[in-house]
Amino acid sequence: MEALRATDPEIYGLVRREERYQRDSVRLIPSENYVSQAVLDASGSVLQNKYSEGYAGRRYYEGQRYIDKIESLVCARACALFSAEHANVQPYSGSPANLAVYCALLQPGETIMGMALPHGGHLTHGWDVSASGRFWHPVRYGVTRETGRIDMDQVREIARQQRPRIIVAGATAYPRQFDFSAFGEIAREVGAYFLADISHIAGLVVAEAHPSPLPHADVVMTTTHKTLRGPRGAILLCRETLAESIDKAVFPGLQGGPHNQTTAAIGVALREAATPEFHAYGRQIVSNARALAEELLARGFDLVSGGTDNHLILIDLTGKGVIGKKASKALDRAGIVCNYNTVPFDPRKPFSPSGIRLGTPSVTSRGMREPEMRRIAAWIDEVVAHVDDQEVHKRIAGEVREMCRAFPAPGLGREGDPVV
Ligand SMILES: *Cc1c(COP(=O)(O)O)cnc(C)c1O
Repeated sequence: MEALRATDPEIYGLVRREERYQRDSVRLIPSENYVSQAVLDASGSVLQNKYSEGYAGRRYYEGQRYIDKIESLVCARACALFSAEHANVQPYSGSPANLAVYCALLQPGETIMGMALPHGGHLTHGWDVSASGRFWHPVRYGVTRETGRIDMDQVREIARQQRPRIIVAGATAYPRQFDFSAFGEIAREVGAYFLADISHIAGLVVAEAHPSPLPHADVVMTTTHKTLRGPRGAILLCRETLAESIDKAVFPGLQGGPHNQTTAAIGVALREAATPEFHAYGRQIVSNARALAEELLARGFDLVSGGTDNHLILIDLTGKGVIGKKASKALDRAGIVCNYNTVPFDPRKPFSPSGIRLGTPSVTSRGMREPEMRRIAAWIDEVVAHVDDQEVHKRIAGEVREMCRAFPAPGLGREGDPVV
């Protein structure tokens, strides 16, 4: 980054500091990851310079000989990896991709049935403050109080009563597997489309550590920057019969020129995801989450649904007498980065909820395994038990830094790189 350093030392310095922060901390935000240097190279490439509204072979600009090849290649890789008939790799991110699906398949005011946000669903599945809940009619399903899990009989009942035009299965804070086959059956029964939003779990699906929603879903959306370990973007997958509506909704319906540097970087990530190493990575994410969960349970933590079978863990801290925000701030001081999160049926407000959310994609990318998960659980326990003791946090931050040194993160510079 010599040119950046010379032109803009201010931005350069901040980027370097962020890099050091990512290197020296245990990052447990389940939606984050470390991309490879190859992904960083593609996303910082001269493809930034191109405009290419339209699709390969049907552009509104000349000069697309290489861009067309890149986009076609990336679409083919996406179809091959997920066994899909059609792929659109242009959505700028997950939220506009979901919006494109609604624009493609629904009339304004029709009903979207999605998982309730406080139960782990995403804003774009019909929550009021999102366009999805303002321009369409939202109905919701959630988890049961007893199990913390989705009850498919309840989902079927709501679908039969409400007759949604689309049912969305996907979440940002659900530690269990989705029964995509049952969702597909229910959608067909009530005449609804079925959108599977696998943003969080796409990498697990590729690694066969979570069942695939294909061929149960009409449309599958995934972000590319979470467990899939690519650049920030999204992919829409569907059958040939819906391809034209989906493509038209993305462009010209919602977007202008695609971000070609991102498209190329998605291609790199898909190539990496097709390797045996990635397969092992996806499975290790789940093993690590399980090890972390077991150790936390042994230390008396209350996990929503009693554990995990994917990459994430939701802790209800009520029993520990600490609120989520306070715990996540203390953990950050101790070099452990996570986020405070609502738990199902949370009596507290969303801006200061009862829980924290942890995930293992990033630490697994660094090569950490079960023994490191047990150390992390012990640190979390100690921080929560001494939530006001900054000396304890500082000491742990040093121990965390020491452990991180043994697990270099992909794509990050060396320790000695100049900060300013
Ligand atoms: C992250 C996420 C999105 C939105 O992705 P952005 O890229 O942040 O817009 C949508 N749905 C689910 C389930 C997600 O986890």
